[in-house]
Amino acid sequence: MGTPRSPPTWRSRRCSPATCAAAGWPWPSYLGRPVNHQWTKSYEFEAAIGGYRDRWLPGAAGYSSPLRPLYELQIIASLSGDVDAYLRTASCNRAPAGAWCRSCAKCAWVFLATAALFGHALAIRKIGADMFADPALAGVYQEMAGLTGTKPFECTGTEGEVRAAIRAAGRGRDAGAYPALAACLRDPAVAGARPLAALLAEWGHDELVPAAFLGQVRKARAEAGARPAP
Ligand SMILES: [Zn+2]
Repeated sequence: MGTPRSPPTWRSRRCSPATCAAAGWPWPSYLGRPVNHQWTKSYEFEAAIGGYRDRWLPGAAGYSSPLRPLYELQIIASLSGDVDAYLRTASCNRAPAGAWCRSCAKCAWVFLATAALFGHALAIRKIGADMFADPALAGVYQEMAGLTGTKPFECTGTEGEVRAAIRAAGRGRDAGAYPALAACLRDPAVAGARPLAALLAEWGHDELVPAAFLGQVRKARAEAGARPAP
């Protein structure tokens, strides 16, 4: 993934399809400690490794993801100018390359993000099935939205992104129209989620992004924020 820019929330929500860097907040916990399985894609990591390089390896190459300041939803929205190319991408970690299992959290997230940004019909084209019609996915969406259980250990949007996307996807429809989203759409936390447009217009920490890339990233974010609703 959205929310006030308090450090813990902000640092953990940047992500990109290129690096699969969604590190949602709150992190799942194991043995009482938070576990971020994508910490190496986080702002914290970039700052730490940059500090190590400056101290111990001066002059060595630096590391930074130019997409880290962006939400996944912003990155996907920036592809609206080439939807055909977007439709050819695939990122399920269970199905064979290029395919979708249509049952994991990653598939559920991509379907949701696509529906929220480009419309339900295009999401069905992308995944090859209507995942909102599958009541077995209700629990996955609730977990991704931070409403129950533990956030899935998959590269999905942050809690704020998921809630905003569900709210946007269900806009103008009865909650029962989408069995997979029904419980989420009836939850006050989703009903009160930030509007998708507000999330798309946000901007994260960018002081670690090389200046040579910053203009391009800001342009992509601006285009994502300016795109019309489906
Ligand atoms: Zn899958």
